Amino acid sequence: MGRKALDIRALFVFTQTMLVILHADLNSFFASVEQQENPTLRGQPVGILKAAGRSCVIACSDEAKTQGVATGMSLTDVESLCPEIILVPANFDRYFFYTRQFLDLVSRYTDRVEVFSLDEVFLDLTHTHRLYSPQEVARDIQRRVSLELGEALGCSIGIAKNKLLAKLASNLAPRKGILEITEQNQARLLAQAPFDAVCGIGYRLTARLHALGIYSLPQIAATPDRLLDAAFGPFWGPRLKQIARGEDYSPVVTLKELGDAKSVSRTFTLFADTTNPRQIKGVLRNLVEEAAFKLRQMGLTGRQFGLSLRGGGRSRVGHVTGKTFTDSGRDIFDRVYTIYSSWRWRYPVRFLGVWVGLLAVKDNLSLPLFTAEQRSQRLTEAIDRVNLTYGDYAVHPASLLFGQIVKPEANGYLGDKKFQFRGSL
Ligand SMILES: [Mg+2]
Repeated sequence: MGRKALDIRALFVFTQTMLVILHADLNSFFASVEQQENPTLRGQPVGILKAAGRSCVIACSDEAKTQGVATGMSLTDVESLCPEIILVPANFDRYFFYTRQFLDLVSRYTDRVEVFSLDEVFLDLTHTHRLYSPQEVARDIQRRVSLELGEALGCSIGIAKNKLLAKLASNLAPRKGILEITEQNQARLLAQAPFDAVCGIGYRLTARLHALGIYSLPQIAATPDRLLDAAFGPFWGPRLKQIARGEDYSPVVTLKELGDAKSVSRTFTLFADTTNPRQIKGVLRNLVEEAAFKLRQMGLTGRQFGLSLRGGGRSRVGHVTGKTFTDSGRDIFDRVYTIYSSWRWRYPVRFLGVWVGLLAVKDNLSLPLFTAEQRSQRLTEAIDRVNLTYGDYAVHPASLLFGQIVKPEANGYLGDKKFQFRGSL
C-alpha cells in the first residue's frame, strides 16, 4: 500500500510541474466573420463599426490592417488611410454564433478550456500531451476552423508552459501560424517581444515605461525592484517583474469552475513563494473577508467552505461542510483555517483560493436564536456600513494588520462570460 501511494504521488507531482498550455486566437475575428457571411467582402479592406453611424472602427480585416488601419481609429483617419474601406455595422449575435462553434470545436481536445474573449481560448493540454502532441492538436484545430467555421476564418496558435507565454506566442505567430515557446527560445522571444504583444502591458503602462526609458522586457527584468515599486506601486511593480521573466501562475479556469451563484470565491496569486505562516494566514483571512462581504451583498449565506493552495509544484483542494449557515468572515475563516491546519502544508505557497458553497438566500432562513449570534450579526452589518461608506477595509480584522491587504481576483467578470455562454458548453 505504501509503495503504491508513493507511485501515485510521484505521478501527481510530475503532472503538476509540466504544464502545457495552448492559446488559440481567431484572426481579425469580426471582419473575418463578415467576410465569411458575405463573399463579396473577401479580399477587401473591411472596417467594423460598433453601430451604423458610429465614428470609430472597433475591428478591421487583414487587408485594412496592411494599409495601416487599426482598431479604435476614428472614421476620418481610417478613410484618409484607406479610402476604399468597406464599413459594416457590428453584428454581435452573428459573432456569438461563431464563438459557440469555436468553443464546441476546441472542447473536443480537452475539457480544460478557458474562454478568454469572444475569439480567444486557453486549452490546458497538460494531461493529454503524451497522447497527442500539442503541435498536432494545433494543426488540427486550424484545419477544422477553416473546415467548420468557414474558409474566411483562421487562427493563430501559441503553445507554452503557462498562459502568459502561450498568449505571447500566438501574438508573435504569423496569421494562421503556430509558435511554441520552449526553454530554448524563451529568452530570445521575450527580448524581442514588443509591449503590445504582451498580455497585461496595456498602452498606459507602455507609455509610463517609455517615459522611464524602458523599451523591452529584459530592461524591466534588469530594473531594481524598488525602482519599479516606486514607479508602479506595490501591485504593478512586482507584476511587471513576473511578466518580464515570463512567469505566470494563473490556472486555466473552465466555465464550470467559474461557478454560478452556487458558490462565491476569491483567489490571489502571490508575487513570490512564501512559507511564512503569518503571511499565509493573513492572505486567507483577507480572501475570506472579501468572499463573506460579497455573500452579504448578495443576501446569501453558505454552509460549505473550501480552500485551494498551489505552490512548490503541488496543488491541493478541499472543503468542509457544516450544518449551519453563515455569512460571517470570522466563522468562515475558522473553517477554512481548520482545513489549512489539517493539511500540514510544508511546501512554498504561491496561489490561494477560498470559496463558500451550498448557498441559501438569507431571508428564507430563520433569524438567529441566541443573543451572541444576534450581536455578532449586528456588528457585521455595522462594519459593512462603515466599509461601504469609507472604502474597503476601513474596519478590518486584526489579523490583517501585518502584511499588505490584497485585492483578490473576483469571478464577476468571468461570471458575466458564463452568463453570455450559457447553454453553449
Ligand atoms: Mg483575435
